Amino acid sequence: MIIPLAQTLATDDLGWVLAENEYEKGGPHRLHSNHKITKDDYIKYINIAKALGTRFLGGFVIGEWDRENTCAKACYNKPESPIDITEKGKDWNNIPPKDSVFDYIKENAAYLDFGLHGVRHGHYEEGKNITGEWAYRLKEGAPTPWDPENKTSFVICDCFKEILRQYYTEEEMPFPESFIPPSHVLYTDPESDVSTCAVLSKYGVKYATLRYTTKNEIMPHFTKFGLFDHNVFMIDRRPPREVSFDKDSCKPPLPPRPYPFIETHFNNLWGVEEYWKKYLSLINLFPTRMIAKNTENVFSQWIYRKYVKISRGYIDFSQVPQEFYDKNIVSNLVLKTFVGPFHLKINSELSVCGYYKDKFGYAYVTLADMNEPMGRGVGKYKLSCKLTTKKPYDIPDNSRDTYCLYGGEECESCVKIRLKIYRGQSITIPTKREIIKVESSNPQVKIEEYEFGKDFVKIYLSGVSMIGDETIITINEGKCRVV
Ligand SMILES: [Zn+2]
Repeated sequence: MIIPLAQTLATDDLGWVLAENEYEKGGPHRLHSNHKITKDDYIKYINIAKALGTRFLGGFVIGEWDRENTCAKACYNKPESPIDITEKGKDWNNIPPKDSVFDYIKENAAYLDFGLHGVRHGHYEEGKNITGEWAYRLKEGAPTPWDPENKTSFVICDCFKEILRQYYTEEEMPFPESFIPPSHVLYTDPESDVSTCAVLSKYGVKYATLRYTTKNEIMPHFTKFGLFDHNVFMIDRRPPREVSFDKDSCKPPLPPRPYPFIETHFNNLWGVEEYWKKYLSLINLFPTRMIAKNTENVFSQWIYRKYVKISRGYIDFSQVPQEFYDKNIVSNLVLKTFVGPFHLKINSELSVCGYYKDKFGYAYVTLADMNEPMGRGVGKYKLSCKLTTKKPYDIPDNSRDTYCLYGGEECESCVKIRLKIYRGQSITIPTKREIIKVESSNPQVKIEEYEFGKDFVKIYLSGVSMIGDETIITINEGKCRVV
């Protein structure tokens, strides 16, 4: 059995209202396009994720949705702030479209991780746009903060958060957990309180991704495996080919390259959605890879692949550095193996809380420790498996779904599933029995309804938070309804 690399798209430049560049005029770098961005572009984008059962990471640049002219406030502009947050300074006067995309994005949080990119995507001074919103970098050398104490990063975070509140409540979207820096520029220094991530940690960011470069002087601490900077762990994100992926490279060569996040920009998907479905669906064809469920899954698999050992009869997490646990980076573990026409029967001290097969004959098993935060593995557990002709029952089939499974338990007449859902999600559980009652331990997660298929039940849940609500679902089963 293999710990597969979990891959999905990390797309930046979502959130622009306009697509054209105004770089030459001292305005922002946008998407090099005259395309009129509409809600339809988001629908098509999210439909790719739905078709594949993944949750994309999207980096949002939020300034053009500012409907209360927050960006014009004195606190976000000189001299009160070390920077002007936009090229217009206090003269910023913005009218976003009435037909907001924010409700649609909220209702589809299961398929899109609303990530932080920036407010205006650049740094604006004396009529010029200097690339790099979060830090300063010339062509060569390591980025440095815009001001010695890096108050700039607080200003950007506060402004981003204030615009966020124009659309989402604190409960719905406290702050993004994931970050993609515009132009791959941030100031990293794990030892310094003024590093970009030191500030982002204070707002709740814990996952970051950007292009790893072998030019060490640019990111002196970033290794190929990643970097912990304060409570943020950052990993590699690469375009589907070495050349820049900003402009017209909408149909990258197959197959996908083996990096955790596949770097794209929003415009790369427009009009070629079917191509991207095919592109991403080939990931599962590789025995050592899987289409990721969500951001947490991408990070966990990346880290476990390096540290977790599977040996005869055991799976051992004891080499995973404590920092990944202390900072809540890792969660469940997915194993993959080829089973052809068969199924896999797993025996383990960990709970087997998710199971499915893909069209290529691979089985995917989610393992979690029901008693640990985020279901993560800690220490050493017994693990063995064998092929069987019998399909497993009472274990969620998460082939199409992106929730996080943190454990499962079976008793004589009930099944318990511990999970984290992103707003509205359904869970599909193969079962032949009647359902007497379904309960959720977290009142914020409601059981909306359930429906039966021939040998499964589908339970519809609703939560509040776009970054996830955790609960334990208890399904009380009755007698057999399928003979
Ligand atoms: Zn960008």
